[in-house]
Amino acid sequence: MDYMERLRDLKGVGEKTEKLYQKLDIYTVGDLLLHYPRSYQTFPPLANYGELHPNSTVAILARLKSPARIRKGHRMDVTLATAFFGDHSLELIWFRMPYVRSQLAVGEAFVFYGKLEEGNRLKMSQAQIYTPDKYRTLMQQPQPVYGLTRGLTNNNVRKMVQTVFDSGIHMGEYLPPELLESNQLVPYEWAMKQIHFPMDFDHLLRARQRLVYDEFFFFLLEMGRNRLEEVPAENHHLITKTVQMRAVQKQLPFALTGGQEEALEDILEDLRAPQVSQRLIQGDVGSGKTIVAFLSMLACLENGYQAVIMAPTEVLARQHEREFTKLCQKYALPYSVVCLTGSSTVKQRREIQSKILDEGALFIIGTHALIQDPVEFRKLALVVTDEQHRFGVRQRKMLASKGQSPNVLVMSATPIPRTLAMILYGDMNLSVIRDLPASRKKTKNAVVRAEKKRTAWQFVAKEVLAGRQAYVICPLVEASDVSEDENVIDYAQTLKDFYGDQITVGLLHGRMKSKEKDRVMEAFSSGKIQVLVSTTVVEVGVNVPNASVMVIENANRFGLAQLHQLRGRVGRGADQAYCIFIDSSDSEEIPRRLEVLVHSDDGFTIASEDLKLRGPGDFFGIRQSGELDFRIADIYQDANVLQMASEDCREILAADPKLMFEEHAGIRNFLERRSQEVYTNL
Ligand code: ADP
Ligand code: MG
Repeated sequence: MDYMERLRDLKGVGEKTEKLYQKLDIYTVGDLLLHYPRSYQTFPPLANYGELHPNSTVAILARLKSPARIRKGHRMDVTLATAFFGDHSLELIWFRMPYVRSQLAVGEAFVFYGKLEEGNRLKMSQAQIYTPDKYRTLMQQPQPVYGLTRGLTNNNVRKMVQTVFDSGIHMGEYLPPELLESNQLVPYEWAMKQIHFPMDFDHLLRARQRLVYDEFFFFLLEMGRNRLEEVPAENHHLITKTVQMRAVQKQLPFALTGGQEEALEDILEDLRAPQVSQRLIQGDVGSGKTIVAFLSMLACLENGYQAVIMAPTEVLARQHEREFTKLCQKYALPYSVVCLTGSSTVKQRREIQSKILDEGALFIIGTHALIQDPVEFRKLALVVTDEQHRFGVRQRKMLASKGQSPNVLVMSATPIPRTLAMILYGDMNLSVIRDLPASRKKTKNAVVRAEKKRTAWQFVAKEVLAGRQAYVICPLVEASDVSEDENVIDYAQTLKDFYGDQITVGLLHGRMKSKEKDRVMEAFSSGKIQVLVSTTVVEVGVNVPNASVMVIENANRFGLAQLHQLRGRVGRGADQAYCIFIDSSDSEEIPRRLEVLVHSDDGFTIASEDLKLRGPGDFFGIRQSGELDFRIADIYQDANVLQMASEDCREILAADPKLMFEEHAGIRNFLERRSQEVYTNL
């Protein structure tokens, strides 16, 4: 068996199962093996009597004094047993599992694992049964917990992965032995097996280290090779006139901050240079990156060229369209703005296409549809990607193949320390916007227990009636049978009932049709919707300065970095802003994570606190950001591995840029295979 084998060709995988896996982007055996566990669960130590509380999940070592009984019901058979430990007894009950009876030999000790029920007597239903030996082994073995989709259980995925391993898949080794040795890395096959089914935590950590290294290594190698191959393109679109742009800059209702100004000057310098370049603009949420992009693009237009800004979501693309259109009107700029997204109709696409061909200067806005479409640019001088994964190498090649070598600007709100940024964005120049506009007031924060959420709603009402707007964020779209977290659909209704006619409540989530999302964002933007109940689709980039309050439901569920991004949606105007975190955790104390947010509003501090708060058990815990989408590596936590991989890559490419050495054959094959995989999955 090999990696490219379709899941369907495995024994026992039918069309239905295949479809389920495809929802998780798993098509081949290789994809399945790369579907690393999201976290690991461990079985708890055997419980002492004093630690037993209703509703807790525990393991109890106990014996039966008499055989289990079966009670025939009219709908199902029930198996009942009483087990004893010390002076205490445990009532056990299983539904529809008559076979457990023969398993339970009288007098023998078993471990019963399950959730204790409410009530005075100790009672457990559907307990899992283990021999003490087996349980001891399990206790040391972290159990994989996979990302799932409805219809697929964790056990399904486990078994599927096991099947692949059992089939004797050959994984081989592609890194040269010296590299493994100098970095003390375990063999690839060992790492793959241990990441799915670790023997213990120590094995898991070593497996992870290897896979993290690989991920960084190949990422950096590809980047390095591209840099070697790419001849710096000549800048065919020198931007020299900036009169109009400067005039707009002067008339803005605010002065640019020092950081914004420096970034803008850096970009203008790039645009005048003899060779095209790429620049990363880093600035925390609310630092005002959009206006910098707008002014840079305007400079291009002023010289008769076109400029593109690409947004990660449709909502953001439309927001840019509105803002740019407004700016053009306000400053009487003679340019039009076009916006192309996945939901643009064929007719709209055709119109936009012909505008791009006919008009010289033009503001072009869009999502990724823009580069996937066979759009022919005519005079493209600058491509900006906003809040987005790195502007991919492949996309750059796509533009280059259309005869365009535009300057590239990537704008990011992820707070990466400079040393890391230099490695990860080694092929780009870097400008950092450190300061926030001085007019900004610091957002005031509060943590409110779930029982007291009405006070939060009342606070929102007070702000809204004073003319401002609010976001309410919930983790889920609709009610779920596996989670008690709030969902936007029910929550919006609850709030409508609570506020009655006096306040307009709107609803936004990722499963709505694009047109509908647009309409809602537009209505919120223009103030028609006063309270917007939304999922995290508003997380990146959304800018409605009049919104001054954010309530985050089940805030304890989100990662720190994500909460920081979310909170960045308020406090963008002159009004005092408020962020209320609703804590639905069981603990009496405020979770540390929320504590950190309440006391800091600096992206860098928050990222490093986030790191400190993560214990060894949850190293798959909180993903910093979706920006640099590594599967298993985390740029913060694994910074030292990143450094190692970066040095190795540099050495290898310096000695053997085309990877022709015998000892690099494995690496070369791996890269080739991966590029094939990427294509089959498109
Ligand atoms: P981000 O960097 O998160 O993308 P935006 O570009 O959306 O931030 O800007 C946030 C808000 O700050 C916008 O309403 C924008 O008009 C405003 N803004 C930008 N620059 C300044 C400035 N120098 N002074 C005051 N307000 C500014
Ligand atoms: Mg932005």
